[in-house]
Amino acid sequence: MSATILVVEDEPAIQSLIEVNLHRAGHSVILAADAESARRAVQQSLPDLVLLDWMLPGMSGIDFARQLRGDARTRRLPIIMLTARAEERDKIEGLDIGADDYVTKPFSPRELMARIKAVLRRNAPQATDDLVELGGLSLDPATHRVTAGGTEINLGPTEFRLLHFLMAHPERVHGRSQLLDQVWGDHVFVEERTVDVHIRRLRAALETTGHDSLIQTVRGSGYRISAQ
Ligand code: CA
Repeated sequence: MSATILVVEDEPAIQSLIEVNLHRAGHSVILAADAESARRAVQQSLPDLVLLDWMLPGMSGIDFARQLRGDARTRRLPIIMLTARAEERDKIEGLDIGADDYVTKPFSPRELMARIKAVLRRNAPQATDDLVELGGLSLDPATHRVTAGGTEINLGPTEFRLLHFLMAHPERVHGRSQLLDQVWGDHVFVEERTVDVHIRRLRAALETTGHDSLIQTVRGSGYRISAQ
């Protein structure tokens, strides 16, 4: 599993403990010590998950989480709150604003990694190594292979990530800027027609086994993968 995880934590010792363990688990890590730098990091590229400390200098973690939930672009970004506060009402407030999970300090790194894995499985399946299947296509992130009825389909790295994201979120329409965010990790400096170019390449690759029709263009909105 290799996800990009934004860690918002102001205590250097905890920051590096988390960083070491995330790297060991195969994830990429972006570090921020306060909400303001976290906000800038998110603006640049969307992480797959945010580990967010409650008590931060300046804006609190809970207010930052609220901000993320209030913005269409980050509304569904998985958030795990980290906190030294173990009181029940804090936990309720944390889950109330839409945090996906809540971990109390001190935590065992193993438990934290397990929680991260569970939240990613639920909310960011494209960041996991789980095999995905749809309409006769099978994509295995662990071996980087796509097959259709035993025939291997060769894809470039971008087409592979694009297909993985679409297959992990079937039937939903994804706008170009959303795909840039999720697949390229950049919605500012990459042009939207780049998406069209790679969709075209993906369809061409899938044509050999007749699976190109799974990828549908939704006029004025974007693209979707559908087995129907
Ligand atoms: Ca703190």
